[in-house]
Amino acid sequence: MIDLAAFSRQDFATVLELAQRFRCLPVAGARKLPALQGRLVTSLFFEPSTRTRSSFEIAAKRLSADVQSFSPASSSLSKGESLLDTARTYLAMGANLLVVRHRCAGVPQQLAAELDRDGERVAVLNAGDGLHSHPSQGLLDLFTLARYFAPEAPSPAALAGRRIAIVGDVLHSRVARSNLWALTACGADVVLCGPPTLLPEAFAAFVDGPPPGQAVDPVPQRGRIAIERQLDLALEGVDAVMTLRLQKERMQQQMITSLDAYHRQYGLSHRRLAHCGKHVPVLHPGPVNRGVELAGELLDDPAISLVDEQVTNGIPVRMALLYLLAAGEAS
Ligand code: ASP
Repeated sequence: MIDLAAFSRQDFATVLELAQRFRCLPVAGARKLPALQGRLVTSLFFEPSTRTRSSFEIAAKRLSADVQSFSPASSSLSKGESLLDTARTYLAMGANLLVVRHRCAGVPQQLAAELDRDGERVAVLNAGDGLHSHPSQGLLDLFTLARYFAPEAPSPAALAGRRIAIVGDVLHSRVARSNLWALTACGADVVLCGPPTLLPEAFAAFVDGPPPGQAVDPVPQRGRIAIERQLDLALEGVDAVMTLRLQKERMQQQMITSLDAYHRQYGLSHRRLAHCGKHVPVLHPGPVNRGVELAGELLDDPAISLVDEQVTNGIPVRMALLYLLAAGEAS
């Protein structure tokens, strides 16, 4: 599971439906399901993570899998072992599912292709690769929005015809890219907002034409993408706002004048949100630069902020992904 570009609307529906079933499991008692008993889930994170790694590990444990995790700093990578050989080492210990994060785009895909060539029966889940893709985050954001609009039956239909704003550092965001594929596949229109340095015009055509590697788009009709530089205008009439972290670690040079100036232009606050003209929820994939992308009071306002809900929803969504991939491997 590398990317959401090749997902059909039915694929999204399958994940959301299963995630909803896992989300609705009783909190006490039967929290653990035996589905992945005897399977080994290995997380290979070559880049830092708080939420994604723990969330995959908790999801795997709730499905009764064994869980093993790898830390580059204390591994033989520092002795020069290649990434592929590292992965093969874990396969030799019996790993069935590899959850991979890397700062370079394309690494999980390349690893999966090489392991395929070796004839290995292992599933590779992309947990974030460079600027390219963060599919499990895109799915948990979709699930969170679908549950917000249709709490009992979250499905792609809950997003159809909605207008969703994505605000901030789109250029460096793999989350934004995954969300663009997911939201437009479900028929939502997206308005992107950010400064030209962090949101190049080319993003307006991001989902035009078949997704990379596909002859045809699996989604016959996608929602549209528009760019609006003025935040107050971008917020007009939207149904939800997704905010993105300023990814300073990925910036080659100074791309904003100052954090204060950025907050004044693109930061979200209660006052700013009034431009939506109605009550709308706010999402952020985390980690948040408090007071930069989001005013602290907004982040902490449970009537508006879905940030904690996103984290909570990450577990059932990742359970659904692990379950589906393990089922695929078994068949
Ligand atoms: N946690 C997300 C990611 O890994 C978003 C971020 O870092 O800003 O891409």
